[in-house]
Amino acid sequence: MGGREATMVLLDENGIRCDGRKVDEPRRIMIRAGGLKNADGSAYIEFGDNKILVGVFGPRDVHPKHMSDTDTGILRVRYHMEPFSVGERKNPAPSRREIEISKVIKEALEPAVMLEKFPRTAVDVFIEVLQADGGTRCAALTAASVALADAGIPMRDMVAAIAAGKVADTVILDVNNEEDQAGQADMPIGYMPSLEKVTLMQLDGVLTPEEYKKCVEVGIEGCKLVYDLQKKALNDKYFGNGDN
Ligand code: ADP
Repeated sequence: MGGREATMVLLDENGIRCDGRKVDEPRRIMIRAGGLKNADGSAYIEFGDNKILVGVFGPRDVHPKHMSDTDTGILRVRYHMEPFSVGERKNPAPSRREIEISKVIKEALEPAVMLEKFPRTAVDVFIEVLQADGGTRCAALTAASVALADAGIPMRDMVAAIAAGKVADTVILDVNNEEDQAGQADMPIGYMPSLEKVTLMQLDGVLTPEEYKKCVEVGIEGCKLVYDLQKKALNDKYFGNGDN
Protein backbone atom coordinates (compact mmCIF):
# COMPACT_ATOMS: atom_id res chain seq x y z
CA MET A 1 0.00 0.00 0.00
CA GLY A 2 3.25 2.06 0.07
CA GLY A 3 2.78 5.74 0.80
CA ARG A 4 -1.02 5.96 0.59
CA GLU A 5 -3.06 8.11 2.93
CA ALA A 6 -4.80 6.29 5.78
CA THR A 7 -8.16 7.29 4.27
CA MET A 8 -7.26 5.54 0.99
CA VAL A 9 -6.81 2.23 2.78
CA LEU A 10 -10.39 2.47 4.00
CA LEU A 11 -11.62 2.36 0.40
CA ASP A 12 -9.59 0.76 -2.39
CA GLU A 13 -9.57 1.65 -6.11
CA ASN A 14 -12.38 -0.86 -6.73
CA GLY A 15 -14.63 0.79 -4.14
CA ILE A 16 -14.11 -2.01 -1.62
CA ARG A 17 -13.90 -1.20 2.10
CA CYS A 18 -11.35 -2.41 4.68
CA ASP A 19 -13.55 -5.40 5.62
CA GLY A 20 -14.38 -6.35 2.03
CA ARG A 21 -17.79 -4.66 1.86
CA LYS A 22 -19.17 -2.42 -0.88
CA VAL A 23 -20.02 1.17 0.09
CA ASP A 24 -23.74 0.47 0.55
CA GLU A 25 -23.39 -2.98 2.09
CA PRO A 26 -24.27 -3.52 5.76
CA ARG A 27 -22.41 -6.02 7.90
CA ARG A 28 -23.97 -9.44 8.57
CA ILE A 29 -26.90 -8.90 10.94
CA MET A 30 -28.51 -11.66 13.00
CA ILE A 31 -31.34 -10.89 15.45
CA ARG A 32 -32.98 -13.35 17.80
CA ALA A 33 -36.08 -12.49 19.85
CA GLY A 34 -36.32 -14.01 23.32
CA GLY A 35 -33.75 -16.19 25.03
CA LEU A 36 -33.71 -14.86 28.61
CA LYS A 37 -36.06 -16.87 30.81
CA ASN A 38 -36.14 -14.38 33.70
CA ALA A 39 -36.83 -11.27 31.61
CA ASP A 40 -40.28 -10.20 30.42
CA GLY A 41 -38.78 -9.74 26.97
CA SER A 42 -35.34 -10.12 25.45
CA ALA A 43 -33.32 -10.07 22.27
CA TYR A 44 -29.82 -10.88 21.08
CA ILE A 45 -28.15 -9.23 18.13
CA GLU A 46 -24.97 -9.78 16.15
CA PHE A 47 -24.21 -6.79 13.97
CA GLY A 48 -20.90 -7.58 12.30
CA ASP A 49 -18.63 -8.27 15.27
CA ASN A 50 -20.91 -6.49 17.75
CA LYS A 51 -22.65 -8.94 20.09
CA ILE A 52 -25.33 -7.49 22.35
CA LEU A 53 -27.94 -8.94 24.69
CA VAL A 54 -30.99 -6.97 25.86
CA GLY A 55 -33.39 -7.80 28.69
CA VAL A 56 -36.66 -5.91 29.30
CA PHE A 57 -38.51 -5.89 32.64
CA GLY A 58 -41.92 -4.38 33.30
CA PRO A 59 -44.13 -2.50 33.33
CA ARG A 60 -43.42 -2.73 37.07
CA ASP A 61 -43.66 -0.65 40.24
CA VAL A 62 -41.23 2.21 40.61
CA HIS A 63 -39.04 2.42 43.73
CA PRO A 64 -38.65 4.96 45.19
CA LYS A 65 -42.26 5.93 44.49
CA HIS A 66 -41.53 9.63 43.97
CA MET A 67 -39.62 8.69 40.78
CA SER A 68 -42.89 7.56 39.20
CA ASP A 69 -45.23 9.72 37.11
CA THR A 70 -48.98 9.61 37.82
CA ASP A 71 -49.78 10.51 34.19
CA THR A 72 -47.51 8.13 32.33
CA GLY A 73 -45.08 5.24 32.58
CA ILE A 74 -41.35 5.84 32.46
CA LEU A 75 -38.66 4.15 30.40
CA ARG A 76 -35.28 3.45 32.00
CA VAL A 77 -32.35 2.31 29.90
CA ARG A 78 -28.95 1.06 31.01
CA TYR A 79 -26.30 0.52 28.32
CA HIS A 80 -23.36 -1.38 29.75
CA MET A 81 -20.17 -2.67 28.14
CA GLU A 82 -18.58 -5.78 29.57
CA PRO A 83 -14.92 -5.26 30.53
CA PHE A 84 -13.99 -7.93 27.95
CA SER A 85 -16.06 -6.40 25.14
CA VAL A 86 -13.15 -4.37 23.72
CA GLY A 87 -9.48 -5.19 23.05
CA GLU A 88 -8.13 -3.41 26.10
CA ARG A 89 -10.03 -4.24 29.32
CA LYS A 90 -12.70 -1.63 29.99
CA ASN A 91 -13.20 -0.38 33.53
CA PRO A 92 -16.49 -1.97 34.73
CA ALA A 93 -17.66 1.29 36.34
CA PRO A 94 -20.17 3.22 34.18
CA SER A 95 -18.25 5.63 31.96
CA ARG A 96 -19.47 9.01 30.74
CA ARG A 97 -19.85 7.40 27.33
CA GLU A 98 -22.11 4.63 28.67
CA ILE A 99 -24.25 7.16 30.56
CA GLU A 100 -24.59 9.26 27.39
CA ILE A 101 -25.46 6.26 25.20
CA SER A 102 -28.06 5.09 27.76
CA LYS A 103 -29.73 8.51 27.52
CA VAL A 104 -29.53 8.61 23.72
CA ILE A 105 -31.11 5.15 23.39
CA LYS A 106 -33.84 5.98 25.93
CA GLU A 107 -34.78 9.13 24.02
CA ALA A 108 -34.72 7.22 20.73
CA LEU A 109 -37.08 4.54 22.10
CA GLU A 110 -39.55 6.83 23.88
CA PRO A 111 -41.49 7.91 20.75
CA ALA A 112 -42.06 4.22 19.94
CA VAL A 113 -43.37 3.05 23.31
CA MET A 114 -46.94 3.76 24.47
CA LEU A 115 -45.89 4.65 27.99
CA GLU A 116 -49.13 6.55 28.58
CA LYS A 117 -50.85 3.17 28.90
CA PHE A 118 -48.87 2.40 32.10
CA PRO A 119 -49.06 5.36 34.49
CA ARG A 120 -46.99 5.07 37.71
CA THR A 121 -44.91 2.18 36.35
CA ALA A 122 -41.49 1.75 34.77
CA VAL A 123 -40.19 -0.33 31.90
CA ASP A 124 -36.50 -1.19 32.35
CA VAL A 125 -34.23 -1.98 29.42
CA PHE A 126 -30.85 -3.56 30.27
CA ILE A 127 -28.32 -3.62 27.44
CA GLU A 128 -25.21 -5.74 27.79
CA VAL A 129 -22.53 -5.25 25.15
CA LEU A 130 -20.60 -8.53 25.06
CA GLN A 131 -18.40 -7.56 22.12
CA ALA A 132 -18.02 -4.12 20.53
CA ASP A 133 -16.84 -3.24 17.05
CA GLY A 134 -18.27 0.18 16.17
CA GLY A 135 -21.97 0.97 15.97
CA THR A 136 -23.01 -0.50 19.29
CA ARG A 137 -25.61 2.21 19.96
CA CYS A 138 -27.40 1.35 16.70
CA ALA A 139 -27.20 -2.38 17.28
CA ALA A 140 -28.37 -1.95 20.89
CA LEU A 141 -31.29 0.30 19.90
CA THR A 142 -32.34 -2.22 17.25
CA ALA A 143 -32.22 -5.12 19.71
CA ALA A 144 -33.94 -3.10 22.47
CA SER A 145 -36.92 -2.49 20.16
CA VAL A 146 -37.24 -6.22 19.53
CA ALA A 147 -36.92 -6.99 23.26
CA LEU A 148 -39.68 -4.45 24.07
CA ALA A 149 -41.95 -6.01 21.46
CA ASP A 150 -41.07 -9.46 22.83
CA ALA A 151 -42.12 -8.23 26.29
CA GLY A 152 -45.54 -7.34 24.84
CA ILE A 153 -45.12 -3.64 25.53
CA PRO A 154 -47.60 -1.75 23.28
CA MET A 155 -45.62 0.14 20.65
CA ARG A 156 -46.39 2.55 17.84
CA ASP A 157 -43.55 1.05 15.76
CA MET A 158 -40.11 -0.46 16.23
CA VAL A 159 -37.00 1.68 15.95
CA ALA A 160 -34.44 0.25 13.53
CA ALA A 161 -30.96 1.76 13.57
CA ILE A 162 -27.76 1.81 11.55
CA ALA A 163 -25.01 4.37 10.91
CA ALA A 164 -24.16 6.08 7.66
CA GLY A 165 -20.78 7.75 7.35
CA LYS A 166 -17.95 8.96 5.17
CA VAL A 167 -14.57 7.46 4.35
CA ALA A 168 -12.23 8.63 1.57
CA ASP A 169 -14.78 11.34 0.66
CA THR A 170 -17.38 8.65 -0.03
CA VAL A 171 -20.68 8.06 1.78
CA ILE A 172 -20.91 4.54 3.24
CA LEU A 173 -23.50 2.45 5.07
CA ASP A 174 -22.84 0.81 8.45
CA VAL A 175 -19.61 2.19 9.89
CA ASN A 176 -17.32 -0.36 11.56
CA ASN A 177 -14.83 0.38 14.34
CA GLU A 178 -11.87 0.98 11.98
CA GLU A 179 -13.94 3.29 9.78
CA ASP A 180 -15.21 5.10 12.88
CA GLN A 181 -11.65 5.68 14.14
CA ALA A 182 -9.96 6.60 10.85
CA GLY A 183 -12.89 7.79 8.72
CA GLN A 184 -14.29 11.27 8.17
CA ALA A 185 -17.83 11.03 9.55
CA ASP A 186 -20.16 8.73 11.51
CA MET A 187 -23.91 9.38 11.55
CA PRO A 188 -25.99 6.93 13.62
CA ILE A 189 -29.67 7.00 12.61
CA GLY A 190 -32.67 5.46 14.36
CA TYR A 191 -35.85 5.34 12.29
CA MET A 192 -39.42 4.05 12.65
CA PRO A 193 -40.18 2.81 9.11
CA SER A 194 -43.96 2.49 9.41
CA LEU A 195 -44.32 5.96 10.92
CA GLU A 196 -41.50 7.40 8.77
CA LYS A 197 -40.01 9.15 11.81
CA VAL A 198 -36.38 9.61 12.78
CA THR A 199 -35.84 9.17 16.54
CA LEU A 200 -32.03 9.18 16.66
CA MET A 201 -29.59 11.21 14.66
CA GLN A 202 -26.08 12.08 15.70
CA LEU A 203 -23.11 13.24 13.67
CA ASP A 204 -19.46 12.96 14.48
CA GLY A 205 -17.37 14.51 11.70
CA VAL A 206 -17.85 16.99 8.89
CA LEU A 207 -20.14 16.61 5.87
CA THR A 208 -21.05 18.90 2.98
CA PRO A 209 -24.81 19.62 2.64
CA GLU A 210 -24.95 17.11 -0.26
CA GLU A 211 -23.13 14.44 1.74
CA TYR A 212 -25.43 15.09 4.69
CA LYS A 213 -28.49 14.49 2.50
CA LYS A 214 -26.95 11.34 1.04
CA CYS A 215 -26.06 10.01 4.53
CA VAL A 216 -29.66 10.52 5.69
CA GLU A 217 -31.00 8.75 2.58
CA VAL A 218 -28.54 5.87 2.79
CA GLY A 219 -29.08 5.57 6.55
CA ILE A 220 -32.87 5.43 6.26
CA GLU A 221 -32.66 2.78 3.52
CA GLY A 222 -30.34 0.84 5.83
CA CYS A 223 -32.83 1.13 8.68
CA LYS A 224 -35.50 -0.41 6.45
CA LEU A 225 -33.25 -3.45 5.89
CA VAL A 226 -32.70 -3.72 9.66
CA TYR A 227 -36.46 -3.41 10.26
CA ASP A 228 -37.14 -6.45 8.05
CA LEU A 229 -34.72 -8.46 10.19
CA GLN A 230 -36.40 -7.24 13.42
CA LYS A 231 -39.78 -8.39 12.13
CA LYS A 232 -38.26 -11.70 10.99
CA ALA A 233 -36.83 -12.28 14.49
CA LEU A 234 -40.27 -11.80 16.07
CA ASN A 235 -41.95 -13.90 13.38
CA ASP A 236 -39.44 -16.70 13.90
CA LYS A 237 -40.13 -16.72 17.65
CA TYR A 238 -43.91 -16.43 17.57
CA PHE A 239 -44.77 -18.17 14.30
CA GLY A 240 -41.66 -20.27 13.66
CA ASN A 241 -40.50 -23.54 15.17
CA GLY A 242 -40.69 -22.05 18.68
CA ASP A 243 -37.25 -23.13 19.94
CA ASN A 244 -36.53 -19.74 21.57
P1 ADP B 1 -20.72 3.20 18.96
O1 ADP B 1 -20.33 1.85 19.49
O2 ADP B 1 -22.17 3.46 19.05
O3 ADP B 1 -20.16 3.43 17.57
P2 ADP B 1 -18.67 5.04 19.85
O4 ADP B 1 -18.59 5.76 18.55
O5 ADP B 1 -18.54 5.81 21.12
O6 ADP B 1 -20.06 4.26 19.94
O7 ADP B 1 -17.60 3.89 19.90
C1 ADP B 1 -17.10 3.27 18.75
C2 ADP B 1 -16.40 1.99 19.10
O8 ADP B 1 -15.24 2.27 19.89
C3 ADP B 1 -17.20 1.03 19.97
O9 ADP B 1 -18.17 0.29 19.25
C4 ADP B 1 -16.09 0.13 20.48
O10 ADP B 1 -15.73 -0.85 19.50
C5 ADP B 1 -14.96 1.12 20.68
N1 ADP B 1 -14.87 1.52 22.09
C6 ADP B 1 -15.75 2.20 22.82
N2 ADP B 1 -15.36 2.35 24.10
C7 ADP B 1 -14.16 1.73 24.18
C8 ADP B 1 -13.21 1.51 25.23
N3 ADP B 1 -13.44 1.96 26.48
N4 ADP B 1 -12.09 0.83 24.92
C9 ADP B 1 -11.86 0.37 23.67
N5 ADP B 1 -12.71 0.52 22.64
C10 ADP B 1 -13.84 1.20 22.88
